[in-house]
Amino acid sequence: MSGSRMKPRFAVFIPAFRHNPAYRNTMHFEGTKEMLEPTEIRREQGFILEPARKIPIVRDVDVLVCGGGPAGVGAALGAARTGAKTMLIERNAFLGGAATAVIMNTWNVPISHMTGVAREITLKLAERSGAVIAGPTVPFDPEALKELSVDLLKQAGVEILNYTWVVDPIMEGRRIRGAVIQNKSGRQAILARAVVDATGDADIAAAAGAEYVMGREKDHKMRPVSVLFRMGGVDVRRAVEYCRSCPAENFTADRNFHILDLDKGLVRMSGFFDIADKARAAGELPEEIHYIRFEGVDVKRGIVTVNNSRVYGVDGTNAWDITRADIEARLQNRKLYAVIKKYIPGFENAFVVDSSANIGVRETRRARGSQLLSEEDILANRTYPDSVAKVWRHHAAGRDWHSPDGSEGSAQNLVYRTLQTDLNWFEMPWAIFVPNNVEGLAVAGRVLSVTHEADMWTRGQYCCLVTGQVAGTAAALAALRNSSPRALDVSTLQRALVAQGVDIGEARKNLVAEVA
Ligand SMILES: Cc1cc2nc3c(=O)[nH]c(=O)nc-3n(C[C@H](O)[C@H](O)[C@H](O)COP(=O)(O)OP(=O)(O)OC[C@H]3O[C@@H](n4cnc5c(N)ncnc54)[C@H](O)[C@@H]3O)c2cc1C
Repeated sequence: MSGSRMKPRFAVFIPAFRHNPAYRNTMHFEGTKEMLEPTEIRREQGFILEPARKIPIVRDVDVLVCGGGPAGVGAALGAARTGAKTMLIERNAFLGGAATAVIMNTWNVPISHMTGVAREITLKLAERSGAVIAGPTVPFDPEALKELSVDLLKQAGVEILNYTWVVDPIMEGRRIRGAVIQNKSGRQAILARAVVDATGDADIAAAAGAEYVMGREKDHKMRPVSVLFRMGGVDVRRAVEYCRSCPAENFTADRNFHILDLDKGLVRMSGFFDIADKARAAGELPEEIHYIRFEGVDVKRGIVTVNNSRVYGVDGTNAWDITRADIEARLQNRKLYAVIKKYIPGFENAFVVDSSANIGVRETRRARGSQLLSEEDILANRTYPDSVAKVWRHHAAGRDWHSPDGSEGSAQNLVYRTLQTDLNWFEMPWAIFVPNNVEGLAVAGRVLSVTHEADMWTRGQYCCLVTGQVAGTAAALAALRNSSPRALDVSTLQRALVAQGVDIGEARKNLVAEVA
């Protein structure tokens, strides 16, 4: 079938939903696809030419949120609560992103320093016995978060569509007008007045032509990827007693990473450097594993999350790479499991509860906006007239413990062993949410315009929830004004965020002054 274009072999007219309301609710269409042209196979040139085809428009919304991780959930809540007709598309069967699909269930911020929907979610999780809010970090139950996310989004009137990939932006010149989605029902179009890219990988922003950077600026290397698993049947009390009986240097020095507060139900164990070194020397652990870390600890039920497999040199936007890495990480986990059971008291009867549904990708694309947040900005506690969030995080200057260069936690790489984090704050200017080159788009979560080093501060799930709320609220305000996020009057956005309980930092004083 190579060579010149052929005439259509068949064409079946499928009406768009606005002409046939039945499609609107069911999104179900029958029979043969409407193909306007046949596929052209150009084997010798190494590609095929896809035929043009009509795609039904199944929704027309104010705000389309792409991705249902912490940023997407925050964005959908921010948009819907601002009064926008909001839809959220998620490729998985459930919401939560890395918090649920990777079972990465610890937020590194105390409840006292949380703000906006992130604070609301944490408090509601605690009410449902789904989080422990007694200390510097907040372990939570991923299943409780899945349920709560749906409850909150439904209450806010967000339409959720799971099991669906957002595959292409719909563009009118430089302006994004929605997205093409793909799922069991086929390929469909969603029109939107504003779009939030919360895919973690800037899938939509990149496809729309937004400027972005992949990985670390100097060499485009990315942080390691991991598959996590949870162990049940753990005698946490016994494990804690063992930790207490060991020399301090066997564990990370950081009081936020190594917490043995049984009475508060707050335990996070990190280090076991001696065991890891011994097991590695005996060939029982892979070369990449230099320490063992249990977090998201559910003291009562004896469940811990093991966050230790590390695969380097992986591009998280390349399906071949992540498949290879996923398989490798799971092989690492089998070894970890055996070593943990063999050497760590309290784990003798432990078993695997589950493992990450998705591989945990820490870093891929970051958008570039008119401003770039750097670690220097963060360390200087810079304030901004267009600040839209003041965020707190346990971290320390230059302490990149997930370096793309490897040897995380090893005796040669002391960052993780000697780490001492403090609770620091930083402000986030609105300009880092708006990527260059595309109109009608805001980004949130991992996708913000920040440097590789600053990403160590902004990538935490708590921060992603907050930045999601900012982007969603902004997208809603823009959509409702028939404007673009870039053109938004920042003080309008700031007021809306303050009304939603978000701490915007110093800029709030200007708002108060203006009102007075
Ligand atoms: C292994 C690991 C350990 C971590 N440890 C911690 C920690 O201890 N504490 C902490 O706070 N943070 C931690 N992080 C960081 C944090 O989890 C992420 O940075 C954060 O989840 C990013 O949020 P996000 O919403 O931007 O992206 P994600 O959480 O990645 O969510 C993106 C969502 O979009 C969906 N999606 C992606 N592409 C598409 C598409 N094209 N169409 C439809 N849906 C799509 C995904 O399925 C996912 O649900 C860790 C991350 C990893 C990977």
